[in-house]
Amino acid sequence: MLSSVLSHEDCAKCRFCCSFRRQSLWETPLFGEETAARLAKLYPEAKFKPREGVLTIDIDNCYKTDDPEEEALCPFNRNGCVLTGDDKPFDCSIWPLRVMRVNGHSAICLTPTCPVISAKPLSVMRELAADETGDIILRFAAAHPEIVKEYREGFPVLREEKDR
Ligand code: SF4
Ligand code: SF4
Repeated sequence: MLSSVLSHEDCAKCRFCCSFRRQSLWETPLFGEETAARLAKLYPEAKFKPREGVLTIDIDNCYKTDDPEEEALCPFNRNGCVLTGDDKPFDCSIWPLRVMRVNGHSAICLTPTCPVISAKPLSVMRELAADETGDIILRFAAAHPEIVKEYREGFPVLREEKDR
């Protein structure tokens, strides 16, 4: 969905966002029950746990050390994500954008840790959030409130839902 600002080549060289430190576990992607059940059969090593009325990957036991910087891989990251189409969580298709609750509204915010996007002027991402891409994201969030996260300091707000 963000192909105008992020290429496959960029991500292939990076792969940062398909692994999680313990402090980033709030960001793990969400799956509907049917999708998770089907994926669990195809990928038996993938474990799921409930969150926000749906399911997310359970990688709590995948850490091998106490190092807070250790990253645990998403089970669907096999040298790149193996999920395509509707199987790919919406969260993943919009990252590093996030929908967060700001002033009682859903807002499109920017995760500050993507090196490619962080190198671009913030105005580029504000324009993207203001256009059809932002409309799609906010419409999805309205229909799937489970993807809306609590606001976190340091995530620039690109567009608030009330601006629609
Ligand atoms: S952090 Fe950014 S560049 Fe790296 S894989 Fe994720 S989206 Fe792609
Ligand atoms: S589901 Fe795919 S894109 Fe999302 S975190 Fe896992 S490997 Fe990455």
